[in-house]
Amino acid sequence: MRTKIVAGNWKMNNDLAESNTLIQNLVSQIKDETLENTRVIVAPTFVNLKSVVDVAKGSSVEVAAQNMHQADNGAYTGEISASMLKGIDINIVILGHSERRAYFGEGDALLAEKTDAALKNNLEVIFCFGEELEDRKSENHFNVVESQLKNGIFHLEASAWKNIILAYEPVWAIGTGETASPEQAQEMHAFIRNLVSDKYGKELADSVSILYGGSVKPANAQEIFSKPDVDGGLIGGAALNASDFMAIIKAI
Ligand code: PEP
Repeated sequence: MRTKIVAGNWKMNNDLAESNTLIQNLVSQIKDETLENTRVIVAPTFVNLKSVVDVAKGSSVEVAAQNMHQADNGAYTGEISASMLKGIDINIVILGHSERRAYFGEGDALLAEKTDAALKNNLEVIFCFGEELEDRKSENHFNVVESQLKNGIFHLEASAWKNIILAYEPVWAIGTGETASPEQAQEMHAFIRNLVSDKYGKELADSVSILYGGSVKPANAQEIFSKPDVDGGLIGGAALNASDFMAIIKAI
């Protein structure tokens, strides 16, 4: 059975006090839940990672970074490496988020390098990808997703995939309040799983968790998560509120 995952991306939100309050709320609410085959992950901003890790320690909430640099160390002012993340007990990193792609020029080749660096350092990768609105309008969305996967992550050996979580996030649905319909999500997730199967075989494809991201809220989570190839969600806005995030976790 595939692992279900609910991951919250806090983006550039929450100062130290707010981050601590949010993780404390989450930890105290989650301890009464039975999380069967379900992982809960939050991704605070870099400066608050250590503090959130300390609060979350011993709970069922895991902590991820939102990005990392591909080099081990060196003259890369302002950047943070995989080994630095490991040094503060971070074991998961989000790579390829559409905001990194759009605002920081991160393309497939760089993301392939970052993925390699993360895996080399034993980090698990939540690899994000998804089409823009124009791609969908011109019915080019399947081609875009296929090329993002082929160029960003399909160079990996099959054995590396135990540390890969895929996150399909149509850009037009991120932070817009517009969600892909459960049918659109299922259609794309099935397409993605087929691509993985064609390249790596059915057994591997059936074991990979594919998350949906894009305006998931308590009100729509259950319907989206009910689709057979949707294994959870990457949540932005609704992850900033402990009650909303808990409701989404319960929906899974
Ligand atoms: C995201 O940024 O990954 C995301 C899905 O955001 P939101 O839930 O706010 O659309």
